Amino acid sequence: MTSSALVLFSGGQDSTVCLAWALARFARVETVGFDYGQRHAAELAARPVILEKLRGDFPQWMDRLGADHLLPLDTLKAIGGSALIDAVSIEMGKDGLPTTFVPGRNVMFLTAAAALGYRRGISDLVGGMCETDFSGYPDCRNDTVQAIARALSLGLARDVTVHTPLMWIDKAATWKLAEELGGAKLVELIVAETVTCYQGDPSPHDWGRGCGKCPSCELRASGYQKYRAA
Ligand code: ZN
Repeated sequence: MTSSALVLFSGGQDSTVCLAWALARFARVETVGFDYGQRHAAELAARPVILEKLRGDFPQWMDRLGADHLLPLDTLKAIGGSALIDAVSIEMGKDGLPTTFVPGRNVMFLTAAAALGYRRGISDLVGGMCETDFSGYPDCRNDTVQAIARALSLGLARDVTVHTPLMWIDKAATWKLAEELGGAKLVELIVAETVTCYQGDPSPHDWGRGCGKCPSCELRASGYQKYRAA
C-alpha cells in the first residue's frame, strides 16, 4: 500500500466517492477543499459532516483519515462571470460551454493541492474529474489533468501523481463504485449528506439533496435511477 494521499474534497458526491477510494488504498489520507466564492455554501458546509460520519461509521477507515484543509481561492471570485459565482443564469454560453464553467478552476485546484501536498509530504493527489459525464468542461479531460500533473512534477521537482478514479465512468457507475467501497452505508451517506446542486438546494430526494431541476441534479438523479435499475 502506498503511504499517503491528498483528496480534493468539495463535499459533493464525486469527491466523496474519491475519498472512499483513497481510504481503501492509502494508509493515510488528507483532504483539501477550496473556498472560491461559490454562491452556495451548502457544499462546503457538508464537508465536515461527511468527514465526521466517515470517521464514526466506517471503523476500517477511521485511523486513515487525517487532517482536513480549507484553502481560499479568492482570485476565482474576483474574476467572476460564472453562474457558480455570480448571479448568472445557468444555460449554454456563447463560448459553447455551460455558464457554470469556471475557467481555470481545476488548474488552480490541482496547483494549490500539489503545493499543499509538497508541504505535507504527499505527492499522490486524488480528484473527481470525469470525462464521461463532464458537461464539456475542458479542465475535466484526462489530457488536461495529466498535463497539469506533468507541469507540477517539473515545477516542484518531484513526481506528482493525479489519480482520477471517476475519469472513465458515468454517474450510475459512480454510485456502484460507492457501494463496492463502503456498502449500502456509504450510498446512504452520499444520498443524505453530499450536495452537488448548482442552486445549493438541500431538499432531500431518494437520489440525494438538490433542487431536482438544474443540470447537476438531473445528472445525479438519472445516474441514481440507472444504478438502482441495474
Ligand atoms: Zn440542483
